Amino acid sequence: MDLLEYQGKQLFARHAIPVPSGQPASTVEQAVAAADQIGYPCVVKAQVLIGGRGKAGGIRVAKDRAEAEQHARSILGMDIKGFTVHEVWIEEASQIAAEYYASIVFDRAAKAPLVMLSKEGGVEIEQVAEENPEALARLHVDPLLGFQDFHGRRLAFAAGIDADLIRPVGAMLAKLYAAFVAEEAMLVEVNPLIVTPERDVRALDAKVTLDDNSLYRHADNAALRDPSAEDAQEQMAHERGLTYVKLEGDIGILGNGAGLVMSTLDVVALAGGAPANFLDAGGGSKADAIVSAVEVILSDEKVKAVLFNIFGGITRCDEVAKGLIEAFDVVKPTVPFVVRLDGTNDVEGRRLLAEANLPNVHTATTMNEAAEKVVELAANAGAAA
Ligand code: GDP
Ligand code: MN
Repeated sequence: MDLLEYQGKQLFARHAIPVPSGQPASTVEQAVAAADQIGYPCVVKAQVLIGGRGKAGGIRVAKDRAEAEQHARSILGMDIKGFTVHEVWIEEASQIAAEYYASIVFDRAAKAPLVMLSKEGGVEIEQVAEENPEALARLHVDPLLGFQDFHGRRLAFAAGIDADLIRPVGAMLAKLYAAFVAEEAMLVEVNPLIVTPERDVRALDAKVTLDDNSLYRHADNAALRDPSAEDAQEQMAHERGLTYVKLEGDIGILGNGAGLVMSTLDVVALAGGAPANFLDAGGGSKADAIVSAVEVILSDEKVKAVLFNIFGGITRCDEVAKGLIEAFDVVKPTVPFVVRLDGTNDVEGRRLLAEANLPNVHTATTMNEAAEKVVELAANAGAAA
């Protein structure tokens, strides 16, 4: 789950990371009231889950009440790269002497958190990494050892931070690391990390991605979930307890077991198709879970054909077949299905399907055959439409 900038800053504040004070607002009136309270000059910042707000005109300094009102009016409702601004964050204006960059991400290949620091903040860090890679200091932290003071100093030296700021910047990184661990984040990014004319270091921006799978341990973070900001299908799947990820293509996919679904996506891609989703019905899926999954898959209007790839272990193929038959009764799909049932009770499952004689349901015995068939059906449907 991605947090809005101000939610990230509030999370930072809980970990004693210095951030400018501010208030969220979702109407012009609230924004002006907040600005009056914070004082002038203040900054009106669009709250959307996308970067580059500054360039898009979503961040403006207001020197008085009239400007605060004017900026709030123009920013609320603004579209930034396809995201509508529903909220602004009114923040005390900061004096900026320098803009740095700091982040912590998981480096899966190294199996360790990677801490990055650069003196070239404020701009797009991808550009710095490409054009001037030595300006981006990088250091892996052994997760068992944790972030030590020397890590901070080493990074600050490597990034060429001024001598008097090596300790404060190192301390800032230590706090960011503590927040990263305590909140079970996947990403913590501060761009820019600013130095004020008084040589104070604070986070002027905050990008935080939390691990969805850990939210049950963090009630306060879980409460920040905004269903309206989520994709409609993903939201529907989430409510039904399904593991579903929406993708760009037009072939709906259902399988049991994450590994099998991942391979199914690969095989469909290899056959020249584009999967519309990842959906893992999980082990031991009963008929009602299958009905629920079919509804989620078909609620995506892009779907032109569906592939069921079931390898029965704990999951019984006859239960899947029953679920599919029931789903056809409830949902009445208009797109073709390809079903591959293999494993526990597959003979019974295939018999049930044959007996039900569902319209537009094709069976396949191997995964490759199923993938080729569904790609062909989707292409035909596309040509016919
Ligand atoms: P982003 O463009 O979405 O990454 O938004 P940021 O929060 O990083 O802001 C972009 C830029 O706006 C920063 O790099 C700053 O240069 C500028 N900015 C943001 N807040 C202030 C502020 O309080 N004072 C000043 N002078 N500039 C600010
Ligand atoms: Mn930024």
